Amino acid sequence: MESAGKLIDDDELREAMQEKGLGTPATRAAIIEGLIYEKYIHREGRELVPGAKAFQLMTLLRGLDIEDLTKPELTGNWEYQLAEMEKGRLERDAFMAQIAKMAERIVKKAKEYDRDTIPGDYATLKTPCPNCGGVVKENYRRFACNGPKDDGHGCGFSISKIPGSRAFELDEVERFLADKKIGPLEGFRSKAGWPFTAELKLAYDDEIKNWKLEFDFGEDAKKEGESGEPVDFSDQQSLGSCPKDQGHVYEHGTSYVCEHAVGANVTCDFKSGKIILQQPVAREQMTKLLATGKTDLLDGFVSNKTRRKFKAYLAYDKKEGKVSFEFEPRAAKVAGKAPAAKKAAAKKAA
Ligand SMILES: [Zn+2]
Ligand SMILES: [Zn+2]
Repeated sequence: MESAGKLIDDDELREAMQEKGLGTPATRAAIIEGLIYEKYIHREGRELVPGAKAFQLMTLLRGLDIEDLTKPELTGNWEYQLAEMEKGRLERDAFMAQIAKMAERIVKKAKEYDRDTIPGDYATLKTPCPNCGGVVKENYRRFACNGPKDDGHGCGFSISKIPGSRAFELDEVERFLADKKIGPLEGFRSKAGWPFTAELKLAYDDEIKNWKLEFDFGEDAKKEGESGEPVDFSDQQSLGSCPKDQGHVYEHGTSYVCEHAVGANVTCDFKSGKIILQQPVAREQMTKLLATGKTDLLDGFVSNKTRRKFKAYLAYDKKEGKVSFEFEPRAAKVAGKAPAAKKAAAKKAA
């Protein structure tokens, strides 16, 4: 965010933004935390990666022709004008009138917003509609049947583009429609923000006389987890005690869970995947995490977005209330530079 000005082509605007960037130092951290909380971006290793929701918002803003809000030029332009005002070269009223006009335009666009007609660069699938054999097309939110003649007279079949906050890749949705199932896929997030792994299937619903998307967690987990029925862990040995409420932690479906996080009377939300970003988390590692706060250094994580492998510890983060990544200190690699940096730091401190 500090260096957002670099993305601007116009020299004057870029200069106006130099050393300022987007937001102020005081608000930046809160803005980033807010974006993570709302799932516009995800922390992955040391990086922040935009999620499906972020791309959807960009499509929306572009489709609504409110592109100003997607560009750092907007801030650059404001900073430039504020500087002009300081120098007495621009009237406050003129600036404010411009702001008011822009706000009016955005509100008008947002009011007229009809989510089914937002233009965008959408795909047409090769695989036909499972219900009527028609042409399936992407729109702003869904993949929807457009009818056998591709004329908008679809049969009503449609599925979400981002089930469980995870965006379909095009080749995945093609396979999914052809096979009526896919997975297990990683990278879903529950409403509470837990990552989870699941299979997806297309199930025929007699009531709507059409196919719909369903999550498939495997029969056992589904039977016990979703119905609110008590879960029987009596044939399992506990991995340790829950860092939140000291309950016993057991294996359950694709996760390790606190005994109080499933069943009829849920009072805890401790849960951690058995596979996280393609890294299997063995029972011994989960036991170690529960006993000491973190696992050994695991080296098989693969970033969803960059496809790069990375190493990390899994550790219980008290502040976030969940298991998250912890990284090796960087020190070893920059050993050569360390003395100089230390000296500089010592100077500063003095
Ligand atoms: Zn159809
Ligand atoms: Zn618990």
